Parts: sequence; C-alpha cells; structure tokens
Amino acid sequence: MAQIWLIAVNPDVANLLELAAGRPVTAVTLGADIPGAARQIVIPVAEGTPAEAAAPAVAEAITAEPGDIILAANRSAERVLAGAVAAKLDAPVLSGVTAIGDGTARLARYGGIVEETVSFESAVVAVADGGTTPVGDVPASETGPATVHAAVVTSTSRSDGESVNLAAAKRIVAVGRGFKSEEDLRLAEDFAKAIGAEIACSRPLSEGTEWLPRDRYIGITGQHVAPEVYVAIGISGQMQHTAGMAGSGTVISINSDDKAPMFSQSDYGIVGDLYEVLPALTEALA
Ligand SMILES: Cc1cc2nc3c(=O)[nH]c(=O)nc-3n(C[C@H](O)[C@H](O)[C@H](O)COP(=O)(O)OP(=O)(O)OC[C@H]3O[C@@H](n4cnc5c(N)ncnc54)[C@H](O)[C@@H]3O)c2cc1C
Repeated sequence: MAQIWLIAVNPDVANLLELAAGRPVTAVTLGADIPGAARQIVIPVAEGTPAEAAAPAVAEAITAEPGDIILAANRSAERVLAGAVAAKLDAPVLSGVTAIGDGTARLARYGGIVEETVSFESAVVAVADGGTTPVGDVPASETGPATVHAAVVTSTSRSDGESVNLAAAKRIVAVGRGFKSEEDLRLAEDFAKAIGAEIACSRPLSEGTEWLPRDRYIGITGQHVAPEVYVAIGISGQMQHTAGMAGSGTVISINSDDKAPMFSQSDYGIVGDLYEVLPALTEALA
C-alpha cells in the first residue's frame, strides 16, 4: 500500500490529514507536533534557522517509493521543501489537490471552476490547502537527518507596507482597466468610502500598472473573496478574474460595453461611462 508522507513546518495540516483519508501518515517536521500523524520525524534545526534551509534534511528523511504520496501545505516554506523532495525523488508536483488515492489525484483548476484527474506511477508530491490544526494524539518524535544549510534570520521587523484582508471584507469595490489613470481611482475610492467598502482590482491594475498593491487584485492568481456586495467597475469579467469573486453575494457591474462578460455574472448592471456614473452614485449616497 502507498505510504503517505507529510511535510509540516507548522501544525496547520488538518486538511492534509483529511486527504490521507485515514491512511497512516509519517510527518516530517521542523519541530511542530502533528496531532493525528502515525509517525513524526523531527529535523533538528537551530534557533533562527529559516525553514527553507532544512530542505536537504527533509529531502533525505523522505525515503518514498513509487506510488507513495508526499503531502505539503500550500505555504511558501512548505512549497520550497516540497520542491526539494520532488527534485530528489524525481517526482511530479501536483498543486490544488482536492483528493488523492493510489495512483490517482483530483486537482482544482481555475479557482475550482475546472477539475482535473491525474494518474501517476512514481511517488508524487501533492500540494493542497493546509487547513487548521488537527486534533488527535501526537506520536513520539524520532530524530531526523541534520543536513541543514547554514543560514540564520538576523532580524525580523514589521513591514511598513499597507496590507488588507479582502477575504474578510463585506463590501468590495473592484476597479479595472476602464480607469484611464491612477488619479482617476479617486472616483472609486470616494464611492467605496460612501458604501463602506474595501478597494480591490483586476490584475492589470496591480501587476501591469502597479496602481494598487498585489494583495488587492482578485482572481485565479490573486485573492479569492466572497463579500456580501461586489461592485465591478470597468472590469470586463474575464474568467481569470471572476474565478476569484464567484462566491460573492450581490454583484453589481458598471461598464460602458453592454456586452461585457461581467454583466452575465452580475445581479445588477449599469451600462455607462464610469466617469459619469461614479460621481453621480457617490453624490446620491452622500
Ligand atoms: C495565467 C493568467 C492568470 C490571470 N490571472 C488573473 C487574475 O487572477 N485576476 C485578474 O483580474 N486577471 C487575471 N488575468 C488577466 C485576465 O485574463 C484579464 O486580462 C484581466 O482580468 C482584464 O482586466 P480588466 O477587466 O480590468 O481589463 P479589460 O479586459 O481591458 O476590461 C476593461 C473594461 O473596462 C470597460 N471600460 C472601458 N472604459 C470604460 C468607462 N469609461 N466606463 C466604464 N467601463 C469602461 C471596458 O468595456 C472593458 O470591459 C490572468 C491572465 C492570465 C493569462
């Protein structure tokens, strides 16, 4: 029977244990206890060592055979460790895994709109949401290899950059390429203020123009949000964008093109020039 391995930098791995579906799991950790695992191999890392520096030790500890499954949470450190394990085992990495069994896995694509089934014969590294901390007994710790790169965190400080938790926002005003300049975003900011909403955007306004920070763009490769109200202004509604807001309650679109795909995703639509519609709406709400 395939053996299940788990790479864990922190104990938030309940979803990965669910993917194991009751099969015994050997966790390879950097010190965190993993409740519910059958075995726990702890890599000895000195205080202040960045998790990624333990990649050689994690790769050495996981002695997987063809057909074995190595689970890793979709977090930055675990992705690095998973990559090192995959390279050592010459194993494929599958991301967005929602189910995995002997020789077959199901993957969510395009924000869950499409599901892929993949078969494999080699060992496979499966990356999925980690979830919360599981409940269960903590197995006795075995000491793993100590082949850790010499790297140390010398200081930690809070970034000055503004960050936003869009996932918790109840109302979102999202702006797109319909805005002609960065200054014009003020129209959306005034409107958002009037309705108590957070500002978000389509990817081009964040990665193309850099008018807004990356943690504000919605979509497959951006934030996934489910506010009560989502107002899309000057956004065409490409699938890569709408995959990130499909769980929204009431969707309202403002677009000058009555054929914009965003209208088919909307409960209410205003066909019009945002430069006329937005000031009028803001004024009406004042
Ligand atoms: C691999 C990949 C991943 C991607 N991931 C994402 C992602 O996560 N999120 C994302 O958003 N995009 C993503 N994209 C990009 C995506 O395909 C679209 O290009 C992008 O979403 C379009 O942004 P937009 O709607 O702002 O711009 P456009 O498609 O250019 O639409 C602008 C809209 O504004 C309207 N408009 C113009 N002037 C006015 C006006 N005066 N008043 C009112 N309306 C007006 C137009 O009619 C048009 O509908 C990805 C693309 C790729 C290839």
